[in-house]
Amino acid sequence: MRLDLGAIAKAGSSKANQTGSWRNFKPIFHQEKCIGCSLCKIYCPEGCVTMVEKKKYTVDYTYCKGCGICAEECSSSDIDMVVEEK
Ligand code: SF4
Ligand code: SF4
Repeated sequence: MRLDLGAIAKAGSSKANQTGSWRNFKPIFHQEKCIGCSLCKIYCPEGCVTMVEKKKYTVDYTYCKGCGICAEECSSSDIDMVVEEK
């Protein structure tokens, strides 16, 4: 997405802006110790964490920018950040 100096993105552009390309680290959701607290989903700034079933959460890597907030906030240390292979 091209932005002129001083400009802001048009509203409704977040789907087109695939922030997964920014990623240097990626979260791995192990789905082993998850207690279903939803903190990863609540705190993810990209809204790309979803619950697939009770105590199983996953991430959409198209939009995950690798910030690590989900891993930091996880109550059960069930998410690890690993170096992204490019
Ligand atoms: S690393 Fe950041 S963007 Fe990716 S799922 Fe976790 S909180 Fe969301
Ligand atoms: S923060 Fe951790 S324990 Fe809580 S729902 Fe997400 S993966 Fe599960």
